[in-house]
Amino acid sequence: MTASAPASVEFRALRREFGKTVALDGLDLLIEPGEFVALLGPSGCGKTTALRCVAGFERPDSGAVLVDGKDVTRVPANKRDAGMVFQSYSLFPNLNARDNVAFGLRVRKVPAATRRARADELLELVGLPQHADRYPHQLSGGQQQRVALARALALEPRVLLLDEPLSALDAKVRVILREEIRRLQLDLGITTVFVTHDQEEALSVADRVAVLRDGRLEQVGAPAEIYDRPATPFVAEFVGTMNHLAGRLGGDRVSVLGQSLPVDGPVPDGSDVDVLVRPEAVRVEPAEDGPAEVLAASFRGSSVRLRLAVDGGEVLADVPGHEAARLGPGTRVAVRLVERPVLVAARTVTTPAPVVAADAV
Ligand code: ATP
Repeated sequence: MTASAPASVEFRALRREFGKTVALDGLDLLIEPGEFVALLGPSGCGKTTALRCVAGFERPDSGAVLVDGKDVTRVPANKRDAGMVFQSYSLFPNLNARDNVAFGLRVRKVPAATRRARADELLELVGLPQHADRYPHQLSGGQQQRVALARALALEPRVLLLDEPLSALDAKVRVILREEIRRLQLDLGITTVFVTHDQEEALSVADRVAVLRDGRLEQVGAPAEIYDRPATPFVAEFVGTMNHLAGRLGGDRVSVLGQSLPVDGPVPDGSDVDVLVRPEAVRVEPAEDGPAEVLAASFRGSSVRLRLAVDGGEVLADVPGHEAARLGPGTRVAVRLVERPVLVAARTVTTPAPVVAADAV
């Protein structure tokens, strides 16, 4: 439906301060034409500010936003080729769904019959062909966001900006709608920037995930890369769940839980380190005289998460569901980490090791 070719979006050394708060601190990121990129990060890391700089609602103090290679930093919002969807549904309450979608077309003086046809076509596209005459208060939250999406697409923008569009919806609707947004984006081939603080959401829909921290880019990569090869402990912590195990560095290897494993990424000073290990990289076997004990097991669908007591600390391990029966609470077990490079960080814990991070999933 987008007639125009997709555009690239580039943040170049973008900086924005609000009084003493530095919202963006030199953000650099290039989004390719047709790409779906999620901006992911904790509250306050500058995601929304970055998006608003693309929309033209925010003016950076320095740096530039380029769309299709052209500097648009000083172009007013209404002259930019971007459609935006917000967290709050922000539909016009006094207009029905069709007129909400057609609003921008009316402002641009598109003839009534064309407006109507186009709005109906868009409502069909977002799965609401029967709801054109309904007013926002007669629509569910998910339906209102579909209308908002159709409205954002009505002017055939070259860039689609989504600011936490699913946050106000309940969990089930959120999953359905994120898949539909992705399908629509692939069909239209529209360059899309999606702001979220929900790592699962970001990993499940985006071509690439850009993790922001304190107004800067911490890492950008395909979802699997971000998850499996986090570049920094911050990314490792923010995306998924991590065990923090006490380790001792020696050369390019680290000894942890009686094993020697290769180290990946930068190595901090000192030989006592935290070794960051995903629960699915912990293998567990029943062993009568094993050094560890299963404390608890929680069902997670296809896997079971075990909480283990090891060396005075706790470790999380994800095991396949069918193994859970022989690994119930109280079972003595042996623990082994899979041979793959592990990320190490400066020691942050002083309690007896190993100690596990808060369960983030
Ligand atoms: P969240 O997930 O909570 O929405 P975010 O990553 O989108 O966070 P931003 O909304 O971009 O973060 O805000 C970044 C920082 O800038 C925050 O500390 C915020 O309080 C501050 N900030 C943003 N807009 C303004 C404003 N208009 N006036 C003052 N401070 C602001």
